[in-house]
Amino acid sequence: MRPFEYARPDTEAEALEMLNDHGGNTAVLAGGTDLISLMKRELVTPDRVVDLKNVPSLSEIREEDGGVRIGSLVTLDEMQKHPLLNNYQSLRHVIDGIRAIQIQHMGTLGGDLCHLPNCWYFRSGYGLLAIERGVSLVEAGDNRYHAIFGNQGAAKFVSASRFAPGLVAWGARVEVIGPNPQQSESIPLEHFYITPKLSNQGVTVLKPGQLISHIWLPVARQQQSATYEVLQMEGLDWPLAAAASCVEIEGGVVQSAKIVMGHVAPTPIVATAAATILLGNALTVDAANLAADIAVSQATPLSNNGYKVQLARTAVKRSLLKAIGHPEGGI
Ligand SMILES: Cc1cc2nc3c(=O)[nH]c(=O)nc-3n(C[C@H](O)[C@H](O)[C@H](O)COP(=O)(O)OP(=O)(O)OC[C@H]3O[C@@H](n4cnc5c(N)ncnc54)[C@H](O)[C@@H]3O)c2cc1C
Repeated sequence: MRPFEYARPDTEAEALEMLNDHGGNTAVLAGGTDLISLMKRELVTPDRVVDLKNVPSLSEIREEDGGVRIGSLVTLDEMQKHPLLNNYQSLRHVIDGIRAIQIQHMGTLGGDLCHLPNCWYFRSGYGLLAIERGVSLVEAGDNRYHAIFGNQGAAKFVSASRFAPGLVAWGARVEVIGPNPQQSESIPLEHFYITPKLSNQGVTVLKPGQLISHIWLPVARQQQSATYEVLQMEGLDWPLAAAASCVEIEGGVVQSAKIVMGHVAPTPIVATAAATILLGNALTVDAANLAADIAVSQATPLSNNGYKVQLARTAVKRSLLKAIGHPEGGI
């Protein structure tokens, strides 16, 4: 690991000041469960690490603007227990799926949303685009865990965040602060992720010196929600495919629906046509199957990952049925 400075601010403004030294070659430390291993492998080499743990405003969960505002430093365990999040079942499903008490206690919501891809080429030092001498290592090599959507350009990794699909389905917004202490903007989470085209681009719209301070969720009224992740292992594992659904049913028919797929593309994928087909109809097994077929109809799998199309299809169908408590929604 390369030498670095360690800074521990007490306020959001101090954190931004500390992040903006060294020409912005700094890194935010939340739970540290991923950042430290990235630094050990010298995949991330900041001159200074800014530890947010002493900034109390980032650890709050409270009602605000008709919804719930969650600090980026809130841990998965705190989210699991907090009564204000009782109606956001799709988020609880994600936490249940992270089967390690240590990670639930240390991992934070902001850290999950900004988690860099688990692509093995990236983690082996070949960069996010994994291109060597003009050749895509992903295309030429083992791509079994890579993207089945949005993979026509150079980026072929999958977005790693486990909360993003559920939060996007709920219509969450992220509050981004910095680089100056006076600057803050609220962005729909749906627009937070980007697919890099150049090797110097990241996976989100965050610029050097910025950080996520809070995540805001609209109030949960009549909506029912679920996340279904396809996990290979019983223990700690990353999903092969996932989907989150948020539906509102009145008079036996679907009034509104949003379906978001995760771990299948460089960004979460909103399956708009699949959700639209449900509107005005009962949410039956047949309807869920039809929506799932539509959701994956535009998939473009790589040489080794055609199997992920079926997994994504199953995740969509089951997330819809799980949201309404149907037994075919699985566990
Ligand atoms: C050995 C190991 C295995 C793991 N396996 C899995 C697994 O299989 N499945 C799983 O879901 N999780 C796994 N995790 C946990 C995963 O790292 C965490 O769930 C979480 O994604 C990271 O949260 P953190 O707070 O520790 O983030 P950090 O490690 O502190 O940060 C992660 C990234 O986000 C950035 N960041 C953090 N907070 C902010 C912010 N507020 N604004 C801007 N950027 C920010 C950091 O700079 C860094 O780039 C594993 C962790 C370990 C140590």
